[in-house]
Amino acid sequence: MLGKLSRWLRLLGYDVLYFHDIADDELLRKAKESNRVLLTKDFTLYRRAVINDVEAIMLRGKCLEEDLALLAALNLIKLEFNRELTRCPLCNCKLKIIKNKDEIKNIIPPNILEKYDFFWVCNGCGKVYWLGSHWNSINKSLLKAKSLIKKFE
Ligand SMILES: [Zn+2]
Repeated sequence: MLGKLSRWLRLLGYDVLYFHDIADDELLRKAKESNRVLLTKDFTLYRRAVINDVEAIMLRGKCLEEDLALLAALNLIKLEFNRELTRCPLCNCKLKIIKNKDEIKNIIPPNILEKYDFFWVCNGCGKVYWLGSHWNSINKSLLKAKSLIKKFE
């Protein structure tokens, strides 16, 4: 349910574990053991978390930007993209900034390599990312989320 939000939080540099198919007991145990904040849209799970002393946030946003705005209003996240801190949306590992394009010339299509100047490689899964045209839509979502923060304060 929160896969998209998880990918966004990683993009913003937050260490996020996401479980698609996991029993509630297991999830609560993992959250408690690792001292993580549990994000959920499931009220029963939220209530169980509170009873079990697991810090939890009940998300009710109608869109990604509302959920991001709520987390920002609670001071859990900042709605800023940081090139140094961003993580792999797929596997949560830290990304390494590519200093020399030669390092990736064999894995990235030449037209991409030529067109863009800023690349990262994931320390975990090896996927390469670049600061491309999709960044406009990311910034748009961040601006929209910022404009919604007041709603939740
Ligand atoms: Zn990765």
